Amino acid sequence: MRITITIRRFNPEIDVKPHWENYTLEVGRETTVLLALLKIKDEIDGSLSFRASCRASICGSDLMMINGMQKLACRTSVLEELDRHGHLKIAPMANMPVIKDMVVDMDPFWKKLKAVTPYVVRENDDLPVQSEALTTIQDNLENADACIMCGACLSACNTFEASSDFLGPAALAKAYRIQVDPRDEIRKNRLETLQTENGIWDCVRCVYCVQVCPKDVAPMEQIVRLRRRSIAAGFTESIGAKHITEFTKVVGKEGRLNETRLPILMTWGNFKKMFQMIPLGIKMFIHGKSPNPFADPPAGHEAVRAIFKGRKK
Ligand code: SF4
Ligand code: SF4
Repeated sequence: MRITITIRRFNPEIDVKPHWENYTLEVGRETTVLLALLKIKDEIDGSLSFRASCRASICGSDLMMINGMQKLACRTSVLEELDRHGHLKIAPMANMPVIKDMVVDMDPFWKKLKAVTPYVVRENDDLPVQSEALTTIQDNLENADACIMCGACLSACNTFEASSDFLGPAALAKAYRIQVDPRDEIRKNRLETLQTENGIWDCVRCVYCVQVCPKDVAPMEQIVRLRRRSIAAGFTESIGAKHITEFTKVVGKEGRLNETRLPILMTWGNFKKMFQMIPLGIKMFIHGKSPNPFADPPAGHEAVRAIFKGRKK
């Protein structure tokens, strides 16, 4: 079958800005996007640049935007994409600096990973030098160890797009993987460092990282697990942690979400944050999003309170 693929091209040595080019080629039922790119490079345009290695979804190096979504080229079928979208458009990973064509600079990804100290640390190891510290843990890794470092999740992350200092889904999933490793001796310190700005509480739970991860690592779920562990370990002072603890208290007590009281309780004692919340509070009030503190509670609030009461028993 003869098809046309549209590819975003950019060579910083000759191009002022990226542009799209069409390539027409013969493909079969089994042709993946990676095989099509290799064919274009071999037979039509040798200057086309992209990364690839294992061709089996293991190395994670051929991640790119395929019809607007982060996908591994080696496991994406050309014909399925054409069936679904009616066209096939390929571009470099979003949110990453482009070096040439589909080749992006992965430095931001590696820096974030490095920032979470992605290996077991043993401070008082009495093992002989060069021997292994073995473990049998398997149950609670929650697939966090399946990451192939492809970068899809960071590329799709809403928070990273808005704030490039956010640690990001892959690094936080790795932080969870180390957090549940009994061999690590600095787990409490690790949790503490994740409470700061750009850490676990900055994730807005958009679920994109879960959607695009080719290995079902579900980074957002690992972040939620880190949040639960943080609260259980007594790290309850961040605004994010207070949002959870105060939310639960308010709904348990009033049988409804009181968006007038919740921000006050979350920021209590932090005058800077309280002050920052005022414009948002005014907007919410104007648009009817904050309940009148003097109005009667809504119907059914007693039933909600009873659920919370029962939960405590
Ligand atoms: S769920 Fe959180 S970590 Fe995942 S993409 Fe959205 S903001 Fe980023
Ligand atoms: S968590 Fe998933 S999407 Fe993110 S780098 Fe690892 S394998 Fe890729």
